[in-house]
Amino acid sequence: MKFPTFSQNWDLDVLFMGGSHSPAFQDFLNKSEKDLSAFQQYVEAWQLDLQDTDRFYTLLEMLKENMQQLEQASSFVSCLQAQDTSDSKAGSLRAKVSQLLATYGVILTTFDEKLRSISDREWQQLLEKKEFSELQFFLTERRKHAKEKLSKAEESLIHSLSVDGYHGWGEIYDTLASHVYIPFVENGETNMLSVGQASNLFNHPNRAVRKEVFHKWEEAWGEKTDMLADILNHLAGFRLTVYKARGWEDVLKEPLAISRMKKETLDTMWHTIADFKAPLVRFLNKKAEMLGIKKLSWFDVEAPIGNTNSTMTFDEGAEFIISHFNKFGPQLADLAKTAFKNRWIEAEDRPGKRAGGFCTSFPLSEQSRIFMTYSGTPSNVSTLAHELGHAFHSAVLHEIHPLKRNYAMNVAETASTFAEMVIADAAVKQAASKEEKLVLLEDKIQRSVALLMNIHARFLFETAFYEERKAGYVHKERLNELMIDAQKTAYGDALGQYHPQFWSSKLHFYITDTPFYNFPYTFGYLFSLGIYAKAMEAGAGYEKKYIALLQDTASMTVEELAKKHLDVDLTKRDFWEAGLKLCIEDIEEFLALLG
Ligand SMILES: [Zn+2]
Repeated sequence: MKFPTFSQNWDLDVLFMGGSHSPAFQDFLNKSEKDLSAFQQYVEAWQLDLQDTDRFYTLLEMLKENMQQLEQASSFVSCLQAQDTSDSKAGSLRAKVSQLLATYGVILTTFDEKLRSISDREWQQLLEKKEFSELQFFLTERRKHAKEKLSKAEESLIHSLSVDGYHGWGEIYDTLASHVYIPFVENGETNMLSVGQASNLFNHPNRAVRKEVFHKWEEAWGEKTDMLADILNHLAGFRLTVYKARGWEDVLKEPLAISRMKKETLDTMWHTIADFKAPLVRFLNKKAEMLGIKKLSWFDVEAPIGNTNSTMTFDEGAEFIISHFNKFGPQLADLAKTAFKNRWIEAEDRPGKRAGGFCTSFPLSEQSRIFMTYSGTPSNVSTLAHELGHAFHSAVLHEIHPLKRNYAMNVAETASTFAEMVIADAAVKQAASKEEKLVLLEDKIQRSVALLMNIHARFLFETAFYEERKAGYVHKERLNELMIDAQKTAYGDALGQYHPQFWSSKLHFYITDTPFYNFPYTFGYLFSLGIYAKAMEAGAGYEKKYIALLQDTASMTVEELAKKHLDVDLTKRDFWEAGLKLCIEDIEEFLALLG
């Protein structure tokens, strides 16, 4: 079957015509601002009246509307900024959206203040009413979190100050990072690579190339290291000050609450992973042997094995993904087709783009947009499948109430990882030769290395850094040390050379919307493996159940979600072990093929 040629540039005009100078988007922002101010007045005037709950219903409708508008606006600006890092107009639009989001936050603080002043008895009566029963989880969670916060005046001040004193630091990071270029000499000519282009070279087959890029990478980021250490310290300092004021002892309290997850679950997950490091280390040692070196360096971990440097054109990648998605379920395949055909994806390999990949949703248009830099490597194909998984999650949620779509960060990675796995497993199964099978298995195992070792290192680093930050500023040299310690533990001492400055180049440490954006990836990975195992057992027709699970992702805690749809207890080792055993099977198959 021949597919038409898919564009590698996304279509943003269909959302708002004219890019960062779009008059339609300006109108939309103006309307959002007006609606926000109406919402503000409404919330301020509102008092609970159990005899007249229509007004509460209206309030929730307004909350929903404003939320969707701001999400729509924020997604659009994210796309503009990502596609052209020199677009200064997009930067000022970001400032505007941040300001609107801060206003929205202040309004919600007012709302929360009112929620927590409602007595438990009245609250029960309210929730028993039919029109609110659907939103029980949303409302209960909102009120519970409100009760753990400071007074309205204090929380409002925190929100307002966070625009310049917190999110502002995140924006400075983005600006600084966008000015990092990696000089790379090829055929006697020096090219200034964007961070995205350079990071693709970490899986170059030639070790000299990887080494060169790694050194230039450390050098380029190293030039900004003083400023980056400042930013990291200020971000953490802001968070810690707020936590202290609220009386929150544990820095994990907020990320766990955002993840709707128990500490017990997180601890069980990491402890079980720690006990499964030995096979991963065996794999890394074997890989070093295959590459003809004693121990892998940081820049070797993603190196391709053997001499297959097979690449896929964007069209081939698309065809590959769609056909394999189709083997799992028609709805997933249809969503992917829509994304390729309707130009939801920006994948072109060119300078001036932001690094990394993301998927962002436009709730009012019921569409998503995917951003990445595609150069045809197997890992690019995985990224593409990953982001399409996110888009699928958003698509199935478009069918349910908008206030039940706000899924947590850890389950946010469930659909994406699941989609990656569908692609990876299908690819291994249909491998044409032993060599191809090895390469594909290795790619799968790489995912385990990334999620069980690399992400583990990030978690260990961040936990240690926050602990030290409580006592004061943590210097860049100390940050390097903490990073190396974390990497050594997480990689089971398998590497000969680590990446001390990883904390400066990894965007995730600077994301202000979600603290500790690391363990959710690992959770999502192992959670997906659990679902994937069930899907394989069940065979055709599992897609319906999978969709039902995804649609519940924002309506209960993860422990409840797992109990209801998978019949497992996340605080027990068994579930995690089952997922980890699938990872180990890949390694065993890989080692067995090598004899
Ligand atoms: Zn993701």
